[in-house]
Amino acid sequence: MVTCPKCEAPLDVEEEELDEGDVLSCDECGASLKVASVNPVELESEDEVGVVDETFDYDDDDEDEDDAEDEKEEEEWH
Ligand SMILES: [Zn+2]
Repeated sequence: MVTCPKCEAPLDVEEEELDEGDVLSCDECGASLKVASVNPVELESEDEVGVVDETFDYDDDDEDEDDAEDEKEEEEWH
């Protein structure tokens, strides 16, 4: 799974189809992402200037959150 280095959103691209130098754009935050290397895939944001987008949304893909909720449930069982 290729994810956006800026907002961690999964990108709808196949890792195997990426080439070094390709430029993608993130649907979530609109960042332009250049493929810095493949295997492993590394993306770098092209718009480092004016990084104002701090509205990270961790709700979608946070596996840790499940753990936290499990613990909470256990407490409620007391
Ligand atoms: Zn993004």
